[in-house]
Amino acid sequence: MRDNLDTAGMAGEIVATCRVMMSTGLVVGTWGNVSRRCSPESFQITPSGVPYSELLLEDLVVVDLQTGSCSGRLRPSTEAPLHAAIYRMRPDVGAIVHTHSPYAAVFAVNRAEIPPLMEEMAQLVGGIVRVARYAASGSAELAEGAVAALQDGAAVLLANHGLVGVGRTLKDALTVCQVVEKSAQVFLWARLSGTPHLLGEQEVLELRRGFLQNYGQPGTNARQ
Ligand code: 13P
Ligand code: ZN
Repeated sequence: MRDNLDTAGMAGEIVATCRVMMSTGLVVGTWGNVSRRCSPESFQITPSGVPYSELLLEDLVVVDLQTGSCSGRLRPSTEAPLHAAIYRMRPDVGAIVHTHSPYAAVFAVNRAEIPPLMEEMAQLVGGIVRVARYAASGSAELAEGAVAALQDGAAVLLANHGLVGVGRTLKDALTVCQVVEKSAQVFLWARLSGTPHLLGEQEVLELRRGFLQNYGQPGTNARQ
C-alpha cells in the first residue's frame, strides 16, 4: 500500500477532530469515527472502540480503498467499509466524519430527512439530508445504502444510527456535521413551537451559489 503523503500530520488532525466531536457532544463513548484520504489508494481512520480521550496518533489505521487491507497495530473502525465506499464513489471527498449526535439521531430514528431550512445549511450542505435504508452497523449493506442516499451531497443520515458528513477537508466534514446537527435541533424545536417555513428550491440554490462564489476569503472557505 502506498502512503505518499504525511500520514503523521494527518493523524494529528484526525485526533484533534475526534476531541472536538467528543467535547461538543457529537459523540458519546466510543461511537462515531473519523477518516481522511491519505493517498489515491488509501485512507487513514480511527481504530474501533478506542475512547477518544485515550486516542494516540499511532492508533490510527491506514486502509486500502479497494482491498480493505490494513496497516496499523489496532483494528480499524468497524465502519471502514462505509468510509471506503464513500471515497470510492466520491473523488471530491477528502475526509469523512461519522457522529451519533442526538438531534440528527431524532431524524435518523424517525427515518425523516432534514430539509435545508437555514442559511448555513443551504450554503454548506446545499440540499436535503436523506436517510439511508436501515442496515446493521459495519455491514456492506450499510455502506451500499449510505452511498446510494448520499449521492453528490455533503451528509447522509443512517437509519436508527447516526450521521455522516463529508468534505474536502476534515474541517469541512466536521462543520457539515455541526451544521446538520444544529439544523436538526432548530427544525425539531420549530415544529414543536410553531409551523416552520422552509426555504424554497430557488432560495436554496441562490444561497448555495452565493456561498460558493462570494463567501469568505478566496481559497479559505469550506466549499464543497
Ligand atoms: P467503531 O468504534 O468501530 O468506529 O464503531 C463506532 C460506530 O459508530 C459504528 O457505527
Ligand atoms: Zn456509528
